[in-house]
Amino acid sequence: PKKAVIIGAGIAGIASAIRLAVKGYNVEVFETNDYPGGKLSEIIVNGYRFDTGPSLFTMPQYVDELFKLAGKDPRTYFNYQKLDVLCRYFYADGTQISAYADTQKFAAEIAAKTTDTASSVIKFLAHSRDIYTITNHVFLERSLHRLQTYLRWDTLRSVFKLPRIDAMRTMHKANSSFFKDSRVVQFFDRYATYNGSNPYQAPATLNVIPHLEHHFGAYFPDGGMYSITLALEKLAEELDVKFYYHTKVDEVILQQGIVKGIKVKDKVIWSDIVISNMDVWFTYKKLLSGHIKLHPQKTLNQERSSSALIFYWGIKKPFPELDLHNIFFSDNYLLEFDHIWKKQTIYHDPTVYVNISSKLNTTDAPEGCENWFVMINVPADSGQDWDSQIAAARQNVISKLSKVLGVNVGSLITTEAVLDPRSIEFKTSSYKGSIYGTSSNSQFAAFLRHANASSKIKGLYFCGGSVHPGGGIPLCLLSAKIVAEMVTAN
Ligand code: FAD
Repeated sequence: PKKAVIIGAGIAGIASAIRLAVKGYNVEVFETNDYPGGKLSEIIVNGYRFDTGPSLFTMPQYVDELFKLAGKDPRTYFNYQKLDVLCRYFYADGTQISAYADTQKFAAEIAAKTTDTASSVIKFLAHSRDIYTITNHVFLERSLHRLQTYLRWDTLRSVFKLPRIDAMRTMHKANSSFFKDSRVVQFFDRYATYNGSNPYQAPATLNVIPHLEHHFGAYFPDGGMYSITLALEKLAEELDVKFYYHTKVDEVILQQGIVKGIKVKDKVIWSDIVISNMDVWFTYKKLLSGHIKLHPQKTLNQERSSSALIFYWGIKKPFPELDLHNIFFSDNYLLEFDHIWKKQTIYHDPTVYVNISSKLNTTDAPEGCENWFVMINVPADSGQDWDSQIAAARQNVISKLSKVLGVNVGSLITTEAVLDPRSIEFKTSSYKGSIYGTSSNSQFAAFLRHANASSKIKGLYFCGGSVHPGGGIPLCLLSAKIVAEMVTAN
């Protein structure tokens, strides 16, 4: 059988391994960490378990598809439940909104709590679905970099409908035209952060994201997010994929522009193809540093997505008013994004996201306690003085939560761990600590993202959040699908 080497056991690396193993490839995965999952991993601190990165699970069908491909029943590997409340929102003026998964109920909630109407919500979500229908096959499920994609009838049909995807104005502009209440505009503007972008710059095409959540739903995997990684790793192992942990790849070996294998600690591993699940920037800069002429400079220089600052707090008191996902909005969203994107710093009143997996997976925290994953969006790393910024942000986050919840949150923290742009880069080799690869702050972002195969190096493929179609678990899984199709078509 043909051999494939995969660099990195992130979610897209494991998914690519499964897809190629199913096609009969002999697959080896090399991972520098001593655990799988990359950003989708976990930490355990003083009896509290935390998922380290992703907390929102959407489009679970893409995970199930991998088990089905291998002829297995996904439910015997892992299970998940659909959430009735997608997220609970707390506004600075005291308004609280529950985003119900049920569209009618959600629309009624908006009508009851704001000055907008239920029908404006229904109309907006229909628009969101429309964008999805037009873009899904073209922008997400296929390579944008192969002629075949453009010759397909459904692509051409989508191209004719392009004006309807609303790419010529910003998300914020579009949302302000759909809604008159600034709280509702803020609600829908937040979806730009789902791929680390800025709603005041990103094209309104990103209004496709609410459809993914409100139509397909949000889910919680039994045992927490990390069980997605573990279930896929198990499936891959059953398909004879070999994982080598604690094994950093140092070089991709080329001969006359053709991939021949990789180098690991001076040992050469020959392979017909190499798939990099490592951030595309570091793949070129570190593993192909001797081949600068083959670097796609313009693509590599694209603006990066935002990063995150996360406090993992053990909290010694239950909060019945909180749900699995909770958002505490900033009073001034425009200023918050200006700080992240223009000033490259942290706003003093950031939007705070609190995820509490112990609400559903009770063993994640000791009895009577909760595991709080507290995240704010911050700029990608450009050498800021993070230690002082983090100290200030910690104080601001504690005062904000304390004010809304009416208790001194600081005094309830029993354990703490922190992840910031520097440690995100260090732990997962993500350039500048950006969490979703390149940003989507321009209409052309989808086309400028690196393709799933190198145009100059034969046999070199890419999957994961830093390449097409982009970051987030669903898109990473789609990148693996595209890669497997490309590999087997060649
Ligand atoms: P990564 O997770 O980036 O892993 C790449 C792997 O390659 C790493 O394990 C790394 O160690 C390895 N590697 C790198 N260099 C080498 C080398 N030289 N040799 C060997 N191995 C190497 N997505 C969602 O869908 N929902 C969310 O709620 C969500 N929230 C997020 C919150 C945070 C804080 C973060 C950080 C991300 C979040 N994301 C979310 C995004 C999601 O986590 C990522 O898009 C996705 O997990 C990236 O997967 P990947 O396959 O690109 O690989």
